[in-house]
Amino acid sequence: MLKIKDYADIVGQNVIEELAILSQHLQGKRIQNINSTAVGGGVAEILTRMLPLLHELGVDARWDVIRGDEKYFAITKKMHNALHGVNETIGDEDLEYFLEINERNVAEMDLNYDIHFVHDPQPIALIRKKPSVGGKWIWRCHIDFTNPNQKIWEFLKGFIEMYDTAVFSAPAFARRLPIRQVLISPSIDPLSDKNKDLSQEFIDAVFEKYGIDQKRPIICQISRFDYLKDPVGVIEAYKLAKEHVDCQLVLAGGGAVDDPEGMRVLADVRQAAENDPDIFVLFLPPAADLEINALQRGSTVVLQKSLKEGFGLTVAEALWKSKPVIATAVGGIQLQITHKYSGILTHSIEGTAFWIKQLLNEPEYAQKLGVNGREHIKNNYLIFRHLRDYLLLFLSVFEKDDIINFG
Ligand code: UDP
Repeated sequence: MLKIKDYADIVGQNVIEELAILSQHLQGKRIQNINSTAVGGGVAEILTRMLPLLHELGVDARWDVIRGDEKYFAITKKMHNALHGVNETIGDEDLEYFLEINERNVAEMDLNYDIHFVHDPQPIALIRKKPSVGGKWIWRCHIDFTNPNQKIWEFLKGFIEMYDTAVFSAPAFARRLPIRQVLISPSIDPLSDKNKDLSQEFIDAVFEKYGIDQKRPIICQISRFDYLKDPVGVIEAYKLAKEHVDCQLVLAGGGAVDDPEGMRVLADVRQAAENDPDIFVLFLPPAADLEINALQRGSTVVLQKSLKEGFGLTVAEALWKSKPVIATAVGGIQLQITHKYSGILTHSIEGTAFWIKQLLNEPEYAQKLGVNGREHIKNNYLIFRHLRDYLLLFLSVFEKDDIINFG
């Protein structure tokens, strides 16, 4: 079992001490996180790492997952896509069903906490319970809000305005709102199975298991099978690059409980990859963190060709491993990569193909990008910074007199 002091080697003892001091001020406060899936996707990834550390710091935090059925998750996925700017039809009946499921959860869930920290749109309407249960309510948006569908935005805005505070991942996502807005970007945990150092033997064994030849260049994208991650676009870019350089492509990912589109996307990917023995489409189970870590570490270049991206933990994960990353210049990815310094930002399939060819032909340049990328992640996107931001956020919603030993 990891202890928070194990992190001192990476970040320094004073940072850990500061976290402990901030946590002391939250004594007696009960914090409830609510999202829509326990596994799959970045939100679950972060909460899985964050909760044990908060507990170790003595913060009374818990994590609840709202319950929904297939119809509800089909609607919330359409909402998710629409908020990312995709043209989706969401009728009034869909919105009513969305509210109905939120209402059912209200009836089943204990909402007697000091802070309700609600993640993303799926559980957003739980806020309607605020007048009767009280407490502070924070809405945490992990979505790329650059260009949201107006109808859905207006619908959600009615709920967001009832919260005390809204949290966005990047300045570009902030909206005109009558409530307080806070910017907090996500993070990765350097000591998790997903990111910790691995032995070369372990990495070799994973590549051997899947029959991937480590003597030849390997490009990979790790992502849920989701149209917004553009896996078919990745295959097209790989094919264009392959006209000039030898390489293999790994597309690895699983699904998420709240994402019903995954199987359809996976079928499209398998079709696009057909007849190419150098494309490896790996459908991974939820607990594949060590394998994902190994695949990222053993790849020559990591891609993230998302069409929209709230943050893109996979980019941070690859950069932390000093990998050269080629990613699209969208959403939160732009916080992580400075073009030609800490990675490569592209805008098209052709651009991605061009840079695959360049980086495979110029390994020293590629390596430099990876080294700079790791430094940037180390300085900005590790879990201690995120913990500190969350502790300060929690403290900030209370009046001074509500907080123990404050000021
Ligand atoms: N991930 C995983 N298994 C998979 C695919 C992705 O554990 O099969 C992880 C990935 O390593 C990352 C997170 O899920 O930690 C995805 O977060 P990201 O922000 O990249 O995208 P999201 O899925 O939230 O859109």
